[in-house]
Amino acid sequence: MALRGIKNIKLEYDCVVIGAGLGGLTCANRLAQSNHSVLLLEHHVQLGGLAAWFQRKHHIFDVALHGFPIGMMKTCRKYWTNEIAKKIVKLKGIRFDNPQFSFTTTYDRKSFTKLMTTEFGIDSSSVEQFFNYTRSMTFVDDTTMTTRELFENFFPGREDVWRLLMEPITYANGSTLEDPAVSYSIVFSNFMSNGVYTFKGGTDLIIKLMEEELIKNGVEIRTRATVEKITHNKDVITGVVVNGQHIAAKAVVSNANLKTTILDLLDDGLVSEEFRTKTEKVRINNSSCQVYIGIKEGEEIEYIGDLIFSSTADRFDALKMLDKNVTSRTFSIYYPWMRPGRERYAIVSSTNARFENWNELSEGQYKLAKNALAEDTLHCLEKYVPDIRSKVDHLEVATPCTFKRYTLHVNGSSFGTKFEGLPVSRDICSKAPGLFHTGSVAIIMSGWLGAANYGVIVANEVDRYLFGISEGQE
Ligand SMILES: Cc1cc2nc3c(=O)[nH]c(=O)nc-3n(C[C@H](O)[C@H](O)[C@H](O)COP(=O)(O)OP(=O)(O)OC[C@H]3O[C@@H](n4cnc5c(N)ncnc54)[C@H](O)[C@@H]3O)c2cc1C
Repeated sequence: MALRGIKNIKLEYDCVVIGAGLGGLTCANRLAQSNHSVLLLEHHVQLGGLAAWFQRKHHIFDVALHGFPIGMMKTCRKYWTNEIAKKIVKLKGIRFDNPQFSFTTTYDRKSFTKLMTTEFGIDSSSVEQFFNYTRSMTFVDDTTMTTRELFENFFPGREDVWRLLMEPITYANGSTLEDPAVSYSIVFSNFMSNGVYTFKGGTDLIIKLMEEELIKNGVEIRTRATVEKITHNKDVITGVVVNGQHIAAKAVVSNANLKTTILDLLDDGLVSEEFRTKTEKVRINNSSCQVYIGIKEGEEIEYIGDLIFSSTADRFDALKMLDKNVTSRTFSIYYPWMRPGRERYAIVSSTNARFENWNELSEGQYKLAKNALAEDTLHCLEKYVPDIRSKVDHLEVATPCTFKRYTLHVNGSSFGTKFEGLPVSRDICSKAPGLFHTGSVAIIMSGWLGAANYGVIVANEVDRYLFGISEGQE
């Protein structure tokens, strides 16, 4: 098991990874598999970052396990273990319920083609062309086209179709119609390839299995270990200061927030003023609120779908989805099959949210606002589970302030930065040799799959960098 604090820690490693989110975990594992000595430092007591869970009485709640694309299975098989990959299973029913339409789908291309042609009356060739076009986009493509323009091109004026195509992606990563179409297309196509998947056993199990694998591969892991500084000699990175102790490393990978990494952990003057300004201009993605609803032992919930995109808003409006007066929320229903042997149900409601709407409240107002959100959520849930109030024995609310506290993300951002964060994240290693960044940026590198895959990409770069250093020394 990972040790807390930095007592008896070795003082030198090939690579230090700051942060044990899915990007940091996967990067650390890949580097250890390539025989590098790796130290993984996590500020929280628990590994996983936003891939978090918590226990209350006999309930276990998952924070960010609502669904990811099938690609996660391949990533886990290739870069983690078969045991992890085999526990990834498909969700059966993704339900939409709003004033414009109401139905359940498997959220894949086949089901969407049928819905778009029959329910929405779109001709099949336009649907086919749309799917082919979005699937062909990659992140080196033109980024000037917005998602709004993409939709206008294929489905002019059809805001109901836009809602079908966009609303789940806005929930999934906070992107809006004004973000680059490429960020939408990559995420949407990943889901459309085969629907929505989850991890059977819950976040606690996947992170436990990852931790075991890291330890088996020789990674030194320390929790309650907050990195305060990334150190350098001239312009080359030399290590980190963690809990007041300097640890030397040939390379440092930061899985912490991109802006924090460059603007707070690095000394002023290490990177050019121009690069700092570019970093300052990177916009942070929005945050989330969640309501965790624990169901009493012995109570059951009939199958109402695995994920419900529920909205009372007349039309899709990404800005309205951030409003504190909630009109749109996603319910994730965790049936007993999700955690075999526990026989418990839980429901988690998620909404997109703005940090400033919560951070500015006094303590009393904050408590009242949380209670109001919990009450409003139960009211909305009564539509799907009429006797929900008699079944609940635990109710708890998380806000953007909660996410900030546990992950140190600027403004409690759930999905890192907007698209312009990608070149900054990619370029840092050329500005400060030996420093790399992995983790949620640019929408496409966020989410469980995006973050894990980005961890692999960056591990390969670090491996090349370390190889270059050892070659130079011979
Ligand atoms: C409410 C919510 C629901 C979500 N639902 C889904 C979903 O259904 N599907 C999906 O695919 N994605 C979902 N996500 C997003 C997904 O969980 C994240 O994009 C992904 O887990 C982020 O991984 P990451 O590698 O960027 O690291 P993060 O999870 O952001 O972790 C970064 C880690 O770095 C640590 N750290 C930061 N600074 C320091 C420091 N100075 N020293 C030491 N450690 C430090 C933090 O404590 C943290 O553990 C959701 C997110 C939220 C908030």
